[in-house]
Amino acid sequence: MGARLDPQFLAALRLSDKLLAQSPDGLLPESGRDAIKADAQTFLTEILGQSRSLVVAYQQELDQHLVAVAEKRRAESLRNLSLLSSLIILTSIFIVWGGFRFRRQIRKTQAYIDSELEALEASRLELVEANTTVRTLEQLNESKNDFISTVNHELRTPLTSIIGYVDLLKSEIEPGVNARVDSMIDVVDKNALVLLNLVESILSLSKLDSKPPQPFVEEVNLITTVEKAKYVLTPQATAANIKITLDFNPDNDYLVIGDANQLSQVFVNLISNAVKFSPQNSAISIRFSRILNEEMENFVSVAISDQGIGIPEKEIPELFHRFFRASNAVNKQVVGTGLGLAIVAKIVEMHAGAILVESKEGHGSTFKVNLPAFISPIDEVILEKRAEVLKRAIAAIKAAELRELKAVCHEMGGALGIYGLDELGAQVLQLSRDVETHRSNASKVSELRLQVLSSLEKADERLSKQGKS
Ligand code: ADP
Repeated sequence: MGARLDPQFLAALRLSDKLLAQSPDGLLPESGRDAIKADAQTFLTEILGQSRSLVVAYQQELDQHLVAVAEKRRAESLRNLSLLSSLIILTSIFIVWGGFRFRRQIRKTQAYIDSELEALEASRLELVEANTTVRTLEQLNESKNDFISTVNHELRTPLTSIIGYVDLLKSEIEPGVNARVDSMIDVVDKNALVLLNLVESILSLSKLDSKPPQPFVEEVNLITTVEKAKYVLTPQATAANIKITLDFNPDNDYLVIGDANQLSQVFVNLISNAVKFSPQNSAISIRFSRILNEEMENFVSVAISDQGIGIPEKEIPELFHRFFRASNAVNKQVVGTGLGLAIVAKIVEMHAGAILVESKEGHGSTFKVNLPAFISPIDEVILEKRAEVLKRAIAAIKAAELRELKAVCHEMGGALGIYGLDELGAQVLQLSRDVETHRSNASKVSELRLQVLSSLEKADERLSKQGKS
């Protein structure tokens, strides 16, 4: 501010200082007052003038500064305002754009929902139609079964009567007196029996077809069932000098859940085929075992092997079709209806089982029936432990020294059998015998040990998966 001081104002200030310095101390005498007043008047006027202009200049400068600040604020506000406006415009554009998009999306979704509803309605109508068709088919099937059943009953009565009268005729006529009459009676007898067999088979199938699937509750011992079937077929087998043997482990049980009559029909049909297609003086073996399927579920398996005519390989897949007869059976004029195996397959399927065929034409056939095993509460406890036993067996066989391997395998094979792992147990027991056979050949033993361990580990894997599922 000092810079702005006018030189005149400075001179006045200096004059005032000088005046004050010259003034006498103490009270000012009356006489000096006017002189001082005159001197002071000059510089006071000057000071006042200067001060006024100084204040005005300062005020002007302040005003200018305030105006500049206000300008700056105004410019900033304008800038902010324009930014805000841009933001509002952008937001509005975005909202409008979003609205359009949203509306489009809603329209699309609506169209999608509409088309889905249409498809749903179409499916519902199809379902209603399919239900009606199923009902109609069921009714047709029932009528067909009723028809078959009635016709067959009507056929069975005269047929039984024919067979009865043929028997009577046979007893009335002395055999050997008239060979032509004997042979004619024989033909009537055989054909009447074939017809009766056909009628019975068709009746069985139509009964099985019309039965709604039901869970079985009866516990059936397959040894007893097969022994009864063997007994029924003993006359035919004895006539051809065919020996039928049953092979099973007496320590095991071979129980399944099912219908005893139906299962009896399965084995009568299979054993009767084995007898029918076998040469005289041959053998039929029926082997029982307990097996595990891929899901480690317990099954009882019955394998019926004969030394008969066998089945041409390419015809095997057709064996269970109704009325199918293999070409070699037809060529050899073996009597039959082609319905026995269809009945077997149907019954086995109803029992959630499986039937497998292995055959070589001219050498014989094996029909294997696998049925889900009956599991008693005690068996269930045992089965729960089998995973543990299997792991123990794997660890023991792996760790065994060569000299103790035989004993370890013997012990573990037995344990696996007890815990329902018959096949694995048999493999381990076989290893114990192989160890003895190849005791001087360490590398052979180690190879066999690895093979058995691999089977055990695979089973262990399957059991773990089953445990997790
Ligand atoms: P059928 O024995 O009355 O002809 P199946 O349905 O029992 O009817 O058998 C169908 C066909 O399967 C037989 O005709 C035969 O060709 C063949 N077959 C069944 N079992 C055997 C068997 N054990 N040995 C050879 N062929 C067999």
